[in-house]
Amino acid sequence: MSDKIEKTDAEWRESLTPEQYQILRQKGTEPPFSGQYCDQKVSGTYVCAGCEEELFASESKYDSRSGWPSFWRPIHAENIGELVDVSHGMRRVEVLCARCGGHLGHVFDDGPQPTGLRYCINSASLDFKPSEDQT
Ligand code: FE
Repeated sequence: MSDKIEKTDAEWRESLTPEQYQILRQKGTEPPFSGQYCDQKVSGTYVCAGCEEELFASESKYDSRSGWPSFWRPIHAENIGELVDVSHGMRRVEVLCARCGGHLGHVFDDGPQPTGLRYCINSASLDFKPSEDQT
């Protein structure tokens, strides 16, 4: 993993769009079925919108019908941080970018095999790099 990124709140505000800032830095959630990557199926790599760390490959993306981009595993487990989140009266596991600490979404245990995991991720937390062999 690359070196950790630390920025002040003002620096994050400046380098992100208002929506990215709200989700990545303030742990917001985009409305379901609203994000640009929810239905995307093309081949490529999803990276952190805050620091470009590689997070999820299109091969592990699947249609969970939840309204958010869903993946059954990260590219590298060490690129992802997890934190127990008891906000909103639920016990959930928050998923963060290990490099910049940005909030990505949550991970649930109702995903497909072989992991049985569902990484439920905000589109606004992601950027997409299409595979080079794609035209
Ligand atoms: Fe990041």
